[in-house]
Amino acid sequence: MFNTLSERKEELRPRDGSTFRMFACGPTVQDNVHMGHAKTYIAFDILARWLLKNGFKVDFLLNITDIDDKIFDRAKKENIPYMGIADRFFKEFLSDIETLNIQTVSRTERVSNFVTEAMSLVQGLIENRRAYQLDGNTYFDISKANNFGKLSHQTQYQLRMKQIDAAPGKKNSVDFLLWRKVPDTTSGTWDSSSLGRGRPGWHIEDTAIAFSVFGAPYDLHGGATELIFPHHEAELAQDEAISGEIPFVSHWMHTGLLLNHGEKMSKSLGNDVKIQDALKSWNSDQIRFYFLKRHYRDSYDFEPHMLSKAKEEFEPVIEAASILGKGPEKSESRAIEDNESYTRFALAMNDDLNTPKALQILVKLSEEILRKRNERDSKILGPIFWAIVETLGFRFF
Ligand SMILES: [Zn+2]
Repeated sequence: MFNTLSERKEELRPRDGSTFRMFACGPTVQDNVHMGHAKTYIAFDILARWLLKNGFKVDFLLNITDIDDKIFDRAKKENIPYMGIADRFFKEFLSDIETLNIQTVSRTERVSNFVTEAMSLVQGLIENRRAYQLDGNTYFDISKANNFGKLSHQTQYQLRMKQIDAAPGKKNSVDFLLWRKVPDTTSGTWDSSSLGRGRPGWHIEDTAIAFSVFGAPYDLHGGATELIFPHHEAELAQDEAISGEIPFVSHWMHTGLLLNHGEKMSKSLGNDVKIQDALKSWNSDQIRFYFLKRHYRDSYDFEPHMLSKAKEEFEPVIEAASILGKGPEKSESRAIEDNESYTRFALAMNDDLNTPKALQILVKLSEEILRKRNERDSKILGPIFWAIVETLGFRFF
């Protein structure tokens, strides 16, 4: 797998030898999620499925950002408590990923349940002089980090040109918020005797969850490429400053962006296509097939006509499934692994999840099944077909 940190392909192996701990940044539950989210979470789902197929246990954590100005604003507009908004779109998100057959997530954790942990991590960083307070806000001092900029591959000169959480008097322009002062007592603020009333910064939320849930260095963290800087760069700096473990996260995985007419698809730009709307025209398998036709690290435009094309290309796979009937058959795993198609499939998957190639192999195999249409060949090819289908996450409905 390509590691954003080293910029090289590296072998994945769980630190503890058996359970692979992976953490993907989940959505902000301010609205229904869009196809860009689908692209990202399908990629992480494929990774988890492939690890499971290879005999590892997988602990796949997805966090849910339910503390955010956009949620507070919407709640104000609708005149309901902000948790009402967060609860509603959290439920909708769970239903969307279930429909897309993203079944590998072991746990979803909501940020609002980890504010106390975030507070104590921030206090610890102040005590260790890795953070400082200014006008009631608390900032991470990046000059104390181990090589800040190493994840986004930026030099100190490049970083000096950037601003994060701009405020007069900060030590460095990219020092980022750990705790933000919110003077009023509206909902969504927490009181801390040393930090003052406010809210945790976005980046410390993930660190609080990772420390609470995994409790130790873990194997993989990621999300879409837009999160590399500042979000993941900041997280990495915090993780290492708090734990003293370098690296705290072994592997960083980032998915290319889904664009709309060349611009990033996002709710804030108003150019997003909701998953629920896409599902009115295409089913979950067709959407999955469409995304897997491209490599997960590619960024590309969302083009509905390509989805319709994917629908056609998926036809032989559906037909083969209906000929073979009744889903995964148990077969000797030796027999599967010795098969030439499966060997090529495994090679493709082991090469940074080369799903475009893996799909070609599946389509060819499906065409072979359709050509032969006899019981003897179905018996041999069936288990291979189902092993591949299961890894790629098609469900046929
Ligand atoms: Zn995150």
